Amino acid sequence: VTGGSQWKSPTRAGGKALPEDTRRHNRGMVLGALFRSGPQSRADLARSTGLSRVTMSDLVADLLAEGLVEELGRPEDQTIGKPATLVGIVPDARHILCLDLSDEEHFQGAIVDLAGKIVERRTVRRRARTGGAAAALVVGLAQDLLAASDRPVLGVGIGSPGVVDDEGTVVEAARLRWHDERLGADLAQRLPVPVHVTNDANAAALGEYTFGGATGKSMILVKIGQGVGAGLLIDGQLFLGDRFAAGEIGHVVLDERGDPCTCGRRGCLETAVAAPRLRERLDGSAAKTRTAILRAAGTKLGLALATIVSALNLHEVVLSAPSDLSSEAFRAAAYDAIRRRTMPAVGDHVDLRYGALGEDDVLLGAAVLVLSSELGVQ
Ligand SMILES: [Zn+2]
Repeated sequence: VTGGSQWKSPTRAGGKALPEDTRRHNRGMVLGALFRSGPQSRADLARSTGLSRVTMSDLVADLLAEGLVEELGRPEDQTIGKPATLVGIVPDARHILCLDLSDEEHFQGAIVDLAGKIVERRTVRRRARTGGAAAALVVGLAQDLLAASDRPVLGVGIGSPGVVDDEGTVVEAARLRWHDERLGADLAQRLPVPVHVTNDANAAALGEYTFGGATGKSMILVKIGQGVGAGLLIDGQLFLGDRFAAGEIGHVVLDERGDPCTCGRRGCLETAVAAPRLRERLDGSAAKTRTAILRAAGTKLGLALATIVSALNLHEVVLSAPSDLSSEAFRAAAYDAIRRRTMPAVGDHVDLRYGALGEDDVLLGAAVLVLSSELGVQ
């Protein structure tokens, strides 16, 4: 493996990477460089990936033949030497079908191109459907998106609430009454394209990392919606934990005498900051009281995050919340609480901000999931 990246070869008997693994890895590096930095010459790509120029020419020839990249002519600013042809991703070479199941009222769908642009949207009302009926709604939405796409489809990506395992089974999503719901496998049987499912906060973290404003290789994204969950990226890789439940911070009890929670306990983080609870408290309050309510909630979140941020020495902490709840008072209070409760070596470097993608972060993260799973994009 060249390039010194974080890639780990798939486990094989004897632990050796096969030639096709290496090739897939190299391909992923090239595509990753083009996704992140835009069109480049083959020589620049060889330099930034650490691959030889011969290997790079072969890889680019394959990608050209597949129609994933195109030659874009020569850079205008080059005046000396033999001009190099630029190579860039063809945005509409493939479509990705993306679903966001995190909203209480609707399941959101979108067709996303390879540049991360949403080219079409579809929404279905959930009408309180749960269990098999909710799963059927997901299938219908995915089929609808597939019919609406006029390009080869790379795959379906889904961000679902709850704990999702590595086979796309929703182990537990209480609100949708899904228990071991084989969402990924069932959908893959009904559609002629690959399907990938992850937790909604994990998807949002992937979206922010690839298409948003991430500056480093590690981050935690806290998604505030019906519940509260977090997505963790460590060294550029999604961290799922031993039982796929990493980031499930919503039912950490902050105050055993606090408000009753849906889980049966009291004072969970969710009772302080989940969107429905916050809206309930804000409803009808005067502006001054609103600020105080948002500050109090932000402080609770900061308390819950201080230990995580310290344990992992995270610099980037990203908040994802509905637009009506994305207030500076909330953010600032959470930041202050983290600073007060961590040592300077950790707290001085924390950057706490709202995500750059707004409410499309789960959809775009679902696209990243497909890009990395199907094209090996790193
Ligand atoms: Zn709880």
